[in-house]
Amino acid sequence: MKFRFLGTAAAEGIPALWCRCERCVRSRTLGGRAVRTRSQAIVDDTLLIDFPSDTYKHFLDNRLDLTAVTDCIITHSHSDHLYATDLSMLAPGFSHVQEGYHLSIFGTDKVGEKVLPAITAPERQNLAHFTEIHPFETFSAGKYTVTALPSIHDPNAGPVFYMIENPTEKNKNGQPKTILYAHDTHYFRDDVWEYFSSHKVHFDLVSLDCTNACLPLTYVGHMGLHENVLVRERMYACGFADEDTLFFCNHFSHNGISVVYDDFVLLAAKEGFSVSYDGMIVEF
Ligand SMILES: [Zn+2]
Ligand SMILES: [Zn+2]
Ligand SMILES: [Zn+2]
Repeated sequence: MKFRFLGTAAAEGIPALWCRCERCVRSRTLGGRAVRTRSQAIVDDTLLIDFPSDTYKHFLDNRLDLTAVTDCIITHSHSDHLYATDLSMLAPGFSHVQEGYHLSIFGTDKVGEKVLPAITAPERQNLAHFTEIHPFETFSAGKYTVTALPSIHDPNAGPVFYMIENPTEKNKNGQPKTILYAHDTHYFRDDVWEYFSSHKVHFDLVSLDCTNACLPLTYVGHMGLHENVLVRERMYACGFADEDTLFFCNHFSHNGISVVYDDFVLLAAKEGFSVSYDGMIVEF
């Protein structure tokens, strides 16, 4: 499978729009991996995760073809994960797509409130469809089997995070290759851990919310490196991951301590984590 991080920042981006903080000034000067756009990822260049305003830039920078994307799963309605206005560009006159092209979009009711007005005009009805999903629901998105898991995040944004299984590719244990894309969320709810247990999951790639980087967490809704380590330890202990599982810290805020890529990559490596950057491709 091919997993590509397209955007790896929280809502304000790194550097943040107006910001003169030390991390943003350095990131602006360094460029390259220090610059992070808003959150998005893509699986095998066909299954898109989230649709922020930086989608336009991501598809240009990575020379990707948006008409190769048949399915889009959206984690929640915050602006760094969903900019529904650009979905309305999928319409005659704005886009010339191949005969039969269709985009299936999945998300909770809060996501639907933003997506549906952008896609329901009569001229768009054969091009895109929205399916409302609920926590602990498993559904098909193209060839992938996707499960939505409840996240501890702003309830007004209808937050879920996703487990993505590919039944057409098996790992060394003979199980479907499985990705956990855990953004945005706090340390997982008990019923999520119970779900992992009862379904005997095993993850091959895990991307964890690391908004705070090394800043101690004093609020509910995200994680930092310390919490990422706790998640991985529990996954190891319960058999949901092993030494072959690829772990990534992802989704960073400029407020995080030591968040600049060149600093954080060394600190995360000590804990056994890789650090995402915009455009990073992982094949596994
Ligand atoms: Zn976010
Ligand atoms: Zn800043
Ligand atoms: Zn959010």
